[in-house]
Amino acid sequence: MADKYDIVIVGAGPAGSLAARCAANKGAKVLLLERDPVIGTPVRCGEGITERGIMRFVDIQPRWVAAQIKGFYMYAPNGVGVKVMTRQEMGYVLERVLFDRYLAELAAEAGADILTRADVDGLVLEDGFVKGVRYNRFGREYSVKCAVTIGADGVESRVAHWAGLFNPLKIADLISAYQFYLAGVEYDYNYCHLYFGQDAAPGGYIWMFPKSGSVVSAGIGINASHSDAGMAYRKLREFVSRRFRKAAIVGEMAGAVPVALPMKKPYGNGILLAGDTARHCNPLTGGGIYTAMCAGSAAGEVAAEACQAGDVSEKRLKDYLRRIDDDIMKTNQRAYRIRMGIEKLDDATLNEVAVELNSMGMESLSLRRVFLQALVNQPSLAIDVIKAFV
Ligand SMILES: Cc1cc2nc3c(=O)[nH]c(=O)nc-3n(C[C@H](O)[C@H](O)[C@H](O)COP(=O)(O)OP(=O)(O)OC[C@H]3O[C@@H](n4cnc5c(N)ncnc54)[C@H](O)[C@@H]3O)c2cc1C
Repeated sequence: MADKYDIVIVGAGPAGSLAARCAANKGAKVLLLERDPVIGTPVRCGEGITERGIMRFVDIQPRWVAAQIKGFYMYAPNGVGVKVMTRQEMGYVLERVLFDRYLAELAAEAGADILTRADVDGLVLEDGFVKGVRYNRFGREYSVKCAVTIGADGVESRVAHWAGLFNPLKIADLISAYQFYLAGVEYDYNYCHLYFGQDAAPGGYIWMFPKSGSVVSAGIGINASHSDAGMAYRKLREFVSRRFRKAAIVGEMAGAVPVALPMKKPYGNGILLAGDTARHCNPLTGGGIYTAMCAGSAAGEVAAEACQAGDVSEKRLKDYLRRIDDDIMKTNQRAYRIRMGIEKLDDATLNEVAVELNSMGMESLSLRRVFLQALVNQPSLAIDVIKAFV
């Protein structure tokens, strides 16, 4: 490892690896630091992504695809299901262990240096600029200098704190999640299933996604403002034991999903923040793989261009906001407003919506149609829905 780089990136998730790849492709000297020994583990994700989302950044590789999805079913609290299946809803369930590693491989191929087991524990701050990072590896402290640091260290980001860019997350903007990997479940591997209801998953939903082999992931997200310690686990356990008596749990994990508005200022002198660190996860769906890739690639490009121009001031790095304006800032602001509208609906209304949608006599619907029907009594959100599901 050199002791000086143009760009140092903290965290080798989708945001960090895309940032490393894009910056290196632009000729920058890049170092990507990852705390965990193996990139991609542990997995804290349902691993679902749309086909359009993934193909914007990488070609599909069978080795990291667990299942290809034709669409999904959404269930109202009364159990009435609506089939959502258009081109836009087609997608994949990934094997993130292999997918994240693949993204890091692409970064390495582009010329980035990568170091695992490198736990970043501070920033080098000089003259009002971030000028590098300090990290611990096997108990020894190291320091590396750079012109731009990119914080891509996920939902529990410490880089954002150290850089003075953090603002607290409201409890109602956080989803508390739990997931089981189930074996021995009869399942149609072409579809995902989403279950809604204030009793089943207050302020969130339960998902079932097919995985490789005969494994299915069943997860739950509950709005943290409605949750208490262990609630996500208990509710998921109840759901699984009621529906899949024979299922064996072969793995489990807990995690948190930020469903907030994107950070207004994810940049500063010598620093950019991308992905969950900057609250780029879609606040309606909780999906953050695609947005992390969008933000990471924009951050990598902006950082490399700033290095070439010899100006890494916050005034110059602010260009990052313009680059993510459509993909993240506007899209997530719309998604947030839609989420606020959906949260106002009680179970009785959700039941009615499902019945009305089914009575339209269409074999399958688009997500846009579903949300327009659900929000029919909140017409101010119609434009948001139309733009969100173009
Ligand atoms: C239960 C659950 C289910 C989800 N399901 C989906 C889904 O189905 N589809 C979807 O699109 N999104 C889903 N998400 C969200 C998605 O997982 C995240 O939005 C996405 O991983 C964000 O990518 P990222 O690169 O910003 O951060 P991360 O993927 O979290 O990567 C951050 C990386 O930084 C590293 N790191 C942290 N601190 C340091 C440090 N100090 N030094 C060095 N490295 C550090 C971490 O080890 C990690 O590798 C889900 C999330 C959860 C919790």
